[in-house]
Amino acid sequence: MNDSHQKVDIAVAHGDGIGPEIMEATLHVLKESGEKLRFHEIEIGEKVYLAGHPSGIAPASWDVLHSCQAFLKAPITTPQGGGFRSLNVTIRAALGLYANVRPCIAYAPCIETRHPGMDLTIIRENEEDLYVGIEYRPSHSTYRAIKVISQEGSEKIIRYAFEYAKTYGRKKVSCFTKDNILKMTDGLFHKIFNEIAVEYPDIATEHWIIDIGAAKMADTPENFDVIVTPNLYGDILSDIAAQIAGSVGLAGSANIGTHTAMFEAIHGSAPRRANQDLANPSGLLLSSVMMLVHLGKLEAAELIYNAWLKTIEEGIHTYDIFDEGRSRKKVGTKEFAKSIAERLGKKPEILKPIHYAHTGHNRPSEHKSRVSIPAAAKTIVGLDLFIESHQAIDALVGTIQKQLVGSPFILQTISNRGAIIWPTRQPHTSIGDLLRLRLVSKEKNPAISYFHLIELQQLLDLLSLDIASCEVLFHYDGKPGYSLLPGEQ
Ligand code: NAD
Repeated sequence: MNDSHQKVDIAVAHGDGIGPEIMEATLHVLKESGEKLRFHEIEIGEKVYLAGHPSGIAPASWDVLHSCQAFLKAPITTPQGGGFRSLNVTIRAALGLYANVRPCIAYAPCIETRHPGMDLTIIRENEEDLYVGIEYRPSHSTYRAIKVISQEGSEKIIRYAFEYAKTYGRKKVSCFTKDNILKMTDGLFHKIFNEIAVEYPDIATEHWIIDIGAAKMADTPENFDVIVTPNLYGDILSDIAAQIAGSVGLAGSANIGTHTAMFEAIHGSAPRRANQDLANPSGLLLSSVMMLVHLGKLEAAELIYNAWLKTIEEGIHTYDIFDEGRSRKKVGTKEFAKSIAERLGKKPEILKPIHYAHTGHNRPSEHKSRVSIPAAAKTIVGLDLFIESHQAIDALVGTIQKQLVGSPFILQTISNRGAIIWPTRQPHTSIGDLLRLRLVSKEKNPAISYFHLIELQQLLDLLSLDIASCEVLFHYDGKPGYSLLPGEQ
């Protein structure tokens, strides 16, 4: 924990689009608060891409990020489609920022919202899932993305969510997954949630399948308190939650790691609103409040948050939250920041003033892992071979089976995009160009090594198959470590 009177080093990136304007506004309020912060500016985003660093960050900036206690980051414009991995995702992974914390709060009656009682926090896993960014083009017409969920990653984020709930006096933690479909990856996340939940008997828990859970959250957000969920679902869910709370421009977020933390608005660089003194800096400003709390600077955090609430309740609003009935004055980014700075030291009268009763939150818990990884015996039982093929299935099966005579493997099934097309096939199942051949051992308890798998691939290579990739099939204590389609064992 920092001594709250010590100056702390903060890396700052002004970003793209509306980024520089909202950062200037945020820094103005932070400086006016009198808090002892030392800012170290780094350049990231478009300018850096154009200067020849395709990752969007210059190598020297990493040293600044590693040496500072926190990173306050404005949004950047991310190249879509082709190009390199998103810089945001790269930074989160490189700095080990595993927990993405997104409070979504309604400020009724001062800001228009259909959900006046809404006050929920989404805790999104930040390092895994489809965001690992591993994608392939194994055949001409098929592309593939890999979803990664680990026991350690799930435990870290779920425990964080419970610790967060405890620190904030929250009553319930809801877990959202799609484990009716993704039985292994999301199934693991759900299972670990259940295991950790028993350690927190004072906190109510529940699990929702993400689709209906998202619908419920959008309809009755006041029924939710803390939501913990894998990366992609959390990304989508938190934008919805922020928008229905009032505006996507209001929500801040913390990306928490063991060594450092990054704070940013949840919205993007809104290029169409840039350079017009229009943008609402609240998302970034409230992120900076989260940063102050994280650094143990609770007085400064309260001072700024209360001044912001006072400004909001006096009806001084940027265009995105301006409402003829509720607002008193429409202001630009600069005037909004000036108005907040002028109200430092004041408390809201209609909205509830902020008081942080605890000392420092958002910090990763020091708990050691208590969810044990069972020591199961791991054996190789076969291989899934993915091939690009335009051949008639019966002809393909005929040649493969002939080639396998005398080998320890049999062809068990052929499938395409998760549907079996051999030995059975429904009349309307369409077939793409990437086929999965499931080759398994003939023996029930096989002694198969990688050497046998290499021999198998060499054997099939003689058929001039267009092999795209392969996946080893394991059993753990005799149970499959891979998903099964109907008819497979
Ligand atoms: P966006 O969030 O930038 O903007 C969508 C719309 O929301 C804007 O047109 C505007 O009407 C409104 N809006 C957003 N923030 C606002 C604010 N502070 N004040 C007032 N109105 C605001 O989403 P987008 O247009 O899809 O994305 C633009 C770029 O930002 C893309 O390149 C995207 O990849 C990037 N992006 C970056 C981050 C990040 O850096 N963390 C996050 C999301 C998107």
